[in-house]
Amino acid sequence: MTDIVDHHKLFIGGRWVEPTGDDTIEVVSPVTEQIVGRVPHATPEDVDRAVAAARTAFDHGPWPRMTMAERIAVVTRIKDTVAARHQELAELITLQNGSPMLFAVRGQALSTVGVLAMTLAAAAQFEEEHERQGTGGPVLVRREAVGVVAAITPWNVPQLTIGAKLAPALLAGCSVVLKPSPETPLDANWLAGVCAEAGLPEGVLSVLPAGRETGAHLVAHPGIDKVAFTGSVAAGKAIMAAAAQNLTRVSLELGGKSAAIVLDDADLAVAVPAIVGGTCAANSGQACVALTRVLVPASRYDEVAGALTAAFGGLKVGDPADPATVVGPMVTKKQQERNLDYIRIGQEEGAKVLTGGGVPAGLTTGWYVEPTLFGDVTNDMRIAREEIFGPVVCLIRYETEDEAVALANASEFGLSGAVFTADTERGTEVARRVRTGTVTVNGFRLDLAAPFGGYKNSGIGREFGPEGLSAYFEYKSVNLPA
Ligand code: NAD
Repeated sequence: MTDIVDHHKLFIGGRWVEPTGDDTIEVVSPVTEQIVGRVPHATPEDVDRAVAAARTAFDHGPWPRMTMAERIAVVTRIKDTVAARHQELAELITLQNGSPMLFAVRGQALSTVGVLAMTLAAAAQFEEEHERQGTGGPVLVRREAVGVVAAITPWNVPQLTIGAKLAPALLAGCSVVLKPSPETPLDANWLAGVCAEAGLPEGVLSVLPAGRETGAHLVAHPGIDKVAFTGSVAAGKAIMAAAAQNLTRVSLELGGKSAAIVLDDADLAVAVPAIVGGTCAANSGQACVALTRVLVPASRYDEVAGALTAAFGGLKVGDPADPATVVGPMVTKKQQERNLDYIRIGQEEGAKVLTGGGVPAGLTTGWYVEPTLFGDVTNDMRIAREEIFGPVVCLIRYETEDEAVALANASEFGLSGAVFTADTERGTEVARRVRTGTVTVNGFRLDLAAPFGGYKNSGIGREFGPEGLSAYFEYKSVNLPA
């Protein structure tokens, strides 16, 4: 029996303080269905306190007035602590969302270290201002911190999505009010402790675990200059509409329904493990970048279907703490039901279950779903159009390369994708034609040094690397005397 991780205070303005409300968030293990953590539920009043502290820190405090080098020193300490304690972080994430340990260490904790490191590297190269010759005289072009940032994050990759906002915001000199998802408040509070120890000045960071009402109050707050959001399309639209009232800047990292295009010359020894890695093995399929539509040439359909059926059927499903587990439980019962509903819908639509299709035998406690491969899917089916967010994958036939590209692009989303081929040049050419923010040739990769984000309904803006850092600055032109 795990001890319950119990928090009684909220981290507001850099200090642990009494919450204004009485509500508590209970974190329930997706494995045991038992309570494993409790934190105070932040209220709109707590938001007001946090925004006031953040405003004071930004408008009058030392943080934005420090040099980049001074801020780099503090963020480096945060990165070093997360790196040194990454195993503890991975275990805390798994405790809350059931992420398989293999993925929790690499895809969650070490990726967070990676995003911090890559943002630090970009900051070290950052040019704050330069002079150029304008039309009427010299102009000093400056980049200044955007201000107070509201960061709103999901439960599936909770620290990576926090790190992708916190690192550039802090390095820019912003102050941050973070609202993590109510499913994963514990790792966010853990990070608050790490940031406090690293010497972040008063007011610069607040962490407010809460649901969407408190989040809605935060994004509509006139004291916020930018909202950085990762989550669903529906919430992204609501946030953008709310932000419009104050013309608050927004960046949105939303969902996906990405295509893996298997070309007719693809090596299945490369494609199959990458597709498994980009679907079921990526956080049990609960990944925005998951390659959930596999596009297969009709001439090789049976071969690919057979290889993927065998691969999916052989995956170890079970306790995420077991390092051999590839597919753990869904985060909540609601997510398990959502997956099972889509599996039923797919069958009603005429798709054929090639493997999986239900709850794994013997795993009735915890919210498990079998790795499920659907064959005979057409791109107009709901299972091919809507984000399922679990280990459920569609196989879709195509005849020509042009049709494959058209199918990949026939989606409301545009986040990720992959092309598999024996010819890298051909794969790169196809990748150029796919309308998504990231495409990998012969693999599945999220590169923490390259811009990441979505076309279409997958979002607005980019995170990671220099482009992710840039998103936390405004430009200013100072026209100098001619
Ligand atoms: P969600 O949209 O339900 O919630 C995300 C966060 O937004 C939570 O903290 C939630 O409390 C908050 N929220 C919801 N409505 C809000 C509102 N109106 N105002 C303010 N805050 C609000 O998403 P989820 O279920 O936690 O996460 C899964 C979704 O996130 C999937 O669609 C997935 O694709 C997406 N995601 C995208 C990326 C990416 O980088 N593109 C990464 C991870 C997850």
